[in-house]
Amino acid sequence: MAANHTTPFRTIVMTETQSDTQITTTRRVVLKISGEGFCPVHERGISMDAMSRLADQVVRSSLSGVQIAIIMGGGNILRGGQFKAANNSIQEATAHYMGMLATVINGLALQDAIENLGGNTRLMTALHIDTVAEPYIRRKAIRHLEKGRIILLAGGTGSPYVTTDTAAAQRALELQADVLLKATKVDGVYSDDPEKNPHAVLYNELGYSDVLRQNLRVMDQEAIAKCKDHGMPIMVFNFRKEGNLRRALGGERVGTLITKNTL
Ligand code: UDP
Repeated sequence: MAANHTTPFRTIVMTETQSDTQITTTRRVVLKISGEGFCPVHERGISMDAMSRLADQVVRSSLSGVQIAIIMGGGNILRGGQFKAANNSIQEATAHYMGMLATVINGLALQDAIENLGGNTRLMTALHIDTVAEPYIRRKAIRHLEKGRIILLAGGTGSPYVTTDTAAAQRALELQADVLLKATKVDGVYSDDPEKNPHAVLYNELGYSDVLRQNLRVMDQEAIAKCKDHGMPIMVFNFRKEGNLRRALGGERVGTLITKNTL
């Protein structure tokens, strides 16, 4: 594969053996999948078919050695913001906690979908729900990744008023991922909404500052700013296109790459 069609491999794993110390490079990714990835187009709730399709590509990539952490969104079930106008009796903060719980529901379903296909997982939550999942502890999460377990990170950041995009940026940084993969329903980052504007241009590569300045709707500004401050590359790609997820997990360049380099 040509070098300019890959995303970087930065993780160095040192393995002590009886005779030697082996140094190998392993790819570590944080994958953000919004709730829309867990249900059919224009529907809500959970479709185990959709989960299984995602799980299949994730398990194959994991078996090929990619270390994978997945941040689940919850929009297929509930977003905190939806209660703002409709129901004043639910406080906004409460609604956000409900949204975080939605991501745990997705995590439980995705865990079974992945394990059904032979993947090894750990569900970790930023909110403490100890009877169904481990609490998120950074060093433990890294250990799971090193052991080849797919970690499912639910509950977002554990704090209200932000989204799982911000959680994804946060975890990508602290887990020292090589790249933050943002799975979307469109082919990458466009100059305008491609579902509304047929002339919208798809970018191959963008700088963080371009995304922020042009207010391109990729991820939350907070998430982009976090990645910008710490140089975390973001790749935005269409997860619904056959094989794209596997390609992205494996290091192939699909969709739009956002880095500090501008065109
Ligand atoms: N949420 C939150 N804190 C977080 C992450 C999520 O309060 O750190 C809440 C927020 O209300 C959000 C909901 O959980 O709307 C579901 O997450 P998100 O909207 O990111 O899901 P997605 O749109 O990716 O499916």
